[in-house]
Amino acid sequence: MRRDFVNMNATDKPRFEHDINIEPDLESTNIGNFVEVPFVDFSAQYTEERDAIHGCVDAVFSEGQFVSEKKVAEFESLIAETVGTSFAIGVSSGTDALYLGLRALEVGPGDEVITPPNSHFSSTSAIVQAGATPVFVDVLDDQNIDPDAIKAAINKRTKVIMPVHLTGRVARMDEILGIAQTQDITILEDAAQAFGARYSDQCAGSFGRVAAFSAHPLKVFNAAGDAGFLTTDDEELAHRLRRLRNNGLHERETLMEWGVVSRLDVLQAAILIYRLKNLEEKISKRRANAARYRRELDARFIHMPPCQAREFNIFQNFVIQVDHRDELREYLLDHKIRTAIHYPIPIHLQPAASSIPRNDNSLARVETQAGRILSLPVHPYLGDGQIDHVCHTINQFYRERDRI
Ligand SMILES: *Cc1c(COP(=O)(O)O)cnc(C)c1O
Repeated sequence: MRRDFVNMNATDKPRFEHDINIEPDLESTNIGNFVEVPFVDFSAQYTEERDAIHGCVDAVFSEGQFVSEKKVAEFESLIAETVGTSFAIGVSSGTDALYLGLRALEVGPGDEVITPPNSHFSSTSAIVQAGATPVFVDVLDDQNIDPDAIKAAINKRTKVIMPVHLTGRVARMDEILGIAQTQDITILEDAAQAFGARYSDQCAGSFGRVAAFSAHPLKVFNAAGDAGFLTTDDEELAHRLRRLRNNGLHERETLMEWGVVSRLDVLQAAILIYRLKNLEEKISKRRANAARYRRELDARFIHMPPCQAREFNIFQNFVIQVDHRDELREYLLDHKIRTAIHYPIPIHLQPAASSIPRNDNSLARVETQAGRILSLPVHPYLGDGQIDHVCHTINQFYRERDRI
């Protein structure tokens, strides 16, 4: 059933509408009714997993325990073991994981949280929801937060540093840990894009005091709906997080504080337990796809994602930086290749951010990169022929331009 672009003709249609309607900004783009290289491929994933997923759903319905702590606890212990922390706490989304992480750390009004603005809205939104003040700082060439910029932004109100492991690559955690230690500041990792990523053989999510993950359908480790989790070595914090996700309840009847309802759905836990078994293979395929891009894209025109010796990148996204990005994206669409931009408008330039006090930290790199970044399809169901098609089309675009 896998759709290989080599075998496709104009009458082939995607099996699911979301193959062509994956992003709101692409919905209005008329590219005909098929794609040769989809940005994600849920139908291929479902074809491969169909029986196993039906088994997961059947087991949950047969048991009839829809808010069972048992399934979730099983999931949590697998996650803690994988990340290398003492505890994991399942919640309803990555956004809630970030928000509850901040709540558990007692971050609130008057506190500052240092974070980069080239992230998913939720990183900053969680800080605002907690009542604290986001302090934006710039990033490095690899799109991750710049440790020197963190140093310059620290003051007596700084309570938390929230690095984001963007695109599936761990931020400079050795330097960031050093800064946090000398200043007595807490680290909350936004590891939403980085489950399985490592730096010096240490997993994303095991560096800070606490870390937040997302298992949104578009993440590498994905559920069939919203889901998220946190990891920590701190028992008290784990206990607090379990309470906060469940209304703030102690046992069944005693309300200790005002929490939220953000438990991990049992169906999602069951699906994630199953998918965890195959995750390594999927990550290997992504890494192989990334390596193929690196070999075949013309480095005279394309700035590849930088790569450090000790990092193990899971390639949530394969992000190139290029001139004439928007024209290239149109050209690729004309050749039935879907791409994405993570993210076209940095958070500090969003209308909602006008309520956030501006400081004079330079955000020049974030702003420059926003006009140059392009995420190429890197999902594990791509065939080599599809990647070659993308590379050939991109190289052709720049070679043709160059001659003009
Ligand atoms: C996806 C994502 C989130 C939010 O996770 P949800 O599960 O969608 O709520 C937060 N931060 C980053 C960096 C993300 O990529």
